[in-house]
Amino acid sequence: MSNLVSGLPTERTLRRLARFRAVRDGVLSLYLTFEPAGGERRNIRAAVDSALDRLKESHLSEQQRAALERERRSVHRFFRRKFTLSGRSLTLFACEPRGLWELYQLQVPSLSIARFADRPAVSQLAAILDEQERYGILIIDKHRARLLSVYLGEVEDDIEIKNRYPGRTAAGGWAQSRYQRHREAQLHTHVLTAIDVLAREQRRRGFDRILVGGPDEARAALLGALPRGLRSRVTGTFACELFASDRTVLKRAGSLMEAAERDAEETLVAHLVDAAKSRSLAVIGWEQTLPAVVEGRVHKLVLVDRLQKRGRSCSGGHMAVGRGPRVCSLCDEAVGRRHDLTEVAVGAALDTQAKIEMVRGSAAQQLRRAGGIGALLRY
Ligand SMILES: [Zn+2]
Repeated sequence: MSNLVSGLPTERTLRRLARFRAVRDGVLSLYLTFEPAGGERRNIRAAVDSALDRLKESHLSEQQRAALERERRSVHRFFRRKFTLSGRSLTLFACEPRGLWELYQLQVPSLSIARFADRPAVSQLAAILDEQERYGILIIDKHRARLLSVYLGEVEDDIEIKNRYPGRTAAGGWAQSRYQRHREAQLHTHVLTAIDVLAREQRRRGFDRILVGGPDEARAALLGALPRGLRSRVTGTFACELFASDRTVLKRAGSLMEAAERDAEETLVAHLVDAAKSRSLAVIGWEQTLPAVVEGRVHKLVLVDRLQKRGRSCSGGHMAVGRGPRVCSLCDEAVGRRHDLTEVAVGAALDTQAKIEMVRGSAAQQLRRAGGIGALLRY
């Protein structure tokens, strides 16, 4: 059973899943996010059940309900066995009769979604892969350096950079000043070697951002010598030992990455609010966003992380506030109670290939004042 947890998803994973069809059998797509210290981590099956129960409230045929129960049993069987939750979120695509079982543990949160349809709901996974930035983390001291490539919160590569001029060439008998110059020249050569490797990996992997770690002096020497193209990608620096564990490095770098992400979200929400105000291809608030996403006009749905909204709406996504009429005044469709309008919005976004962006922190505060949801529109 060990290989039943897949590795990190890639573009290839996405393309393969996007082509998968099971019109008769149906595919279960499940995204679950777990708080780092939440009690739900200990009971994954309960979290799965609650997601599937909510899914059953949606419009499924008798045949689909039976197929969903089949998948529920197989998911239960899996989580009864030895399984250690190590990520922030789980993503599962399953169709037992067709032998589809792909389970991903990611170090990044996702919106909790359960879908049962003729194809895997891959849009959120695509959005996650699309939004995730690849970081190059260069850690340097006076003699050695390491370059880590970090993607989806994990170290995917760790290159050790050796100094070609070992320190012991500083033989005795030299004048102090000459020895000092020799050491400076050595450090400079070492720094240039590290920059060469960084530039090469930058071309190969295309780091979105670069972080520089290490003791003060070597770090300063490196930053001073970085060419402008690389310098402009440096998002932050931090003090650390050269051979700190991955865990320590990820922890130090993590807060810098988090800050960069929050900055990007603040920019997005500020843009969204401005664009909605001037009515240029953007809407904000439930009343306008929900119908837009149901109609397939949304390019990017922006919502507060873990947003929940009870309410009533017709199948066209027009909302009825309060008790309201039983029939939508706009489209004459029946208005029904919705357990969670967020799921309606996200489901519609998935169905129409819209991107989904969840925001946290101060961007979330700003968006919450406008109902917690908004969208950039295609037209
Ligand atoms: Zn309506």
